[in-house]
Amino acid sequence: MSLIVSPRLVKLTTRTEVDIKRSFPQPALRRIGAWVFLDHFGPTKQVDGMVVAQHPHTGLQTVTWPFAGLMEHRDSVGSIQVLRPSELNLMTAGRGISHSEISQVGPELLHAAQLWLALPEADRNIEPFFEHHAELPVLEFGDSSAKVFIGTLGEAKSPAKVFSPLVGAELEVSGEMELPLEETFEHGVLVVSGEIFVNGQLVAVNDLVYLPVGETATVSGNGVALLLGGEPFTEHIVMWWNFIGRSHAEIVSWREAWNAQGEDWAPFEDAIGGWIPAPNLPNVTLQSRG
Ligand code: MN
Repeated sequence: MSLIVSPRLVKLTTRTEVDIKRSFPQPALRRIGAWVFLDHFGPTKQVDGMVVAQHPHTGLQTVTWPFAGLMEHRDSVGSIQVLRPSELNLMTAGRGISHSEISQVGPELLHAAQLWLALPEADRNIEPFFEHHAELPVLEFGDSSAKVFIGTLGEAKSPAKVFSPLVGAELEVSGEMELPLEETFEHGVLVVSGEIFVNGQLVAVNDLVYLPVGETATVSGNGVALLLGGEPFTEHIVMWWNFIGRSHAEIVSWREAWNAQGEDWAPFEDAIGGWIPAPNLPNVTLQSRG
């Protein structure tokens, strides 16, 4: 049985004009495969743009997927990258990286998805690195197409480095597409724009259809959607702020190291300046979730 999940609205203190739509994690849906976080914002006029100063990540990969507008990414391994629509920006945090993001304010609307993938135990402490891929494989379905930005869909395989079996693709829907889904994956289809039907059911913009392992998907109509999927990720993780660990103690140590701005986190030059301190921990032990 598929499940329709509406996003939770999140206000960011740094960007008061922009509502963030968070599809997961939330009580109705914690994750899809190793995909553990999905934010979608815009399309929005760049009233205040997007300005996120240096902050750290551990134990995960971040995907920034712009639909419209330009952003600049900088990070502590020396990357400086302009993020353009329909190009993949993948940051593998491993044992720890910090980065900043600033939109290049212009006449274009700003519209993007930001996603996190949990790294499995064997890989979560690797050295951090950043990848940018402008050339990505596309599967054609008549007038519709799927740009596979990460993982594998049918015959199409993204060059991006992944650590568990998964898929992420942007669907340009014009007509009907019967997606060649992996039988061992669970999937989600987020409707980004237009009038989109999943297995014959109309799905509102910003809603996500969750498809359990083994379900098929025919996507039809006219518009844009994101397809996410992966083998169920069964490790228990602790997600807090920008960190993914395995225990409360690990989160505490990363938080202290970041806020001390010691040698673990090399600062870098950017147009924003400064860094975002980690907030206070709640007065309870953070619990891991499977
Ligand atoms: Mn970040």
